[in-house]
Amino acid sequence: MPVIAANLQAVRQRLIKAAQQAGRSPGEIELLAVSKTFPADAVRAAFSAGQHAFGENYVQEGIDKIAALADLRDHLHWHFIGPLQSNKTRAVAEHFDWVHSVDRLRIAERLAAQRPAGLPPLQVCIQVNISGEATKSGVAPAEVLLLARQITRLPGLHLRGLMAIPEPSSDVTAQRRPFAALRALLATLREDGLAVDTLSMGMSSDLEAAVAEGATIVRVGTAIFGARAPASQPS
Ligand SMILES: *Cc1c(COP(=O)(O)O)cnc(C)c1O
Repeated sequence: MPVIAANLQAVRQRLIKAAQQAGRSPGEIELLAVSKTFPADAVRAAFSAGQHAFGENYVQEGIDKIAALADLRDHLHWHFIGPLQSNKTRAVAEHFDWVHSVDRLRIAERLAAQRPAGLPPLQVCIQVNISGEATKSGVAPAEVLLLARQITRLPGLHLRGLMAIPEPSSDVTAQRRPFAALRALLATLREDGLAVDTLSMGMSSDLEAAVAEGATIVRVGTAIFGARAPASQPS
């Protein structure tokens, strides 16, 4: 079996086991394959192995890849998961299906205004700075409810839930703490009457902890496509 197909199978097995241990149905958890820095051919290989949802971090790289895979467009779901600047919102609004990294109203307003009328609403998550690091992107937990209420009033967007990238840790108990906090925050939005259903959390090294705390989308790159080159590309 080709390596990407074998890796995908192994990740799916991890997800099934984690779901079972958490008393959840594996069907509740979507695997998002993070293809950043890997070529369109790697996405094609994953698609051939049954994978349909892909995540990209860099706007230009993402839209180039979407164009290179235009023949598969109807079968693929493209999620933008990287930092998003105002001058790049149009390309994202026009080409992606989801954005996980909305962290301020201005970005949401631009995405809403720029989403083409012929497309379904852009599915969005608010990125939360759940570990409270000054350097990390994301909204402070105390500001999430206000931003969520504002986003639900915008046309062209469908607020789905919350996303976080916590501090890495090798200890499962420590991994679970920020995921539990994100889950609690989603519950406060639901108590406020917002119809949100998505917790985008968990990556290659902590997906079990995320599933244990209720993840509905896990974003997995390395465990599917292999290690990335150390230097990240500019967007
Ligand atoms: C790169 C990236 C991932 C995937 O990380 P891995 O550790 O390679 O699984 C997930 N989410 C975001 C936001 C990323 O930038």
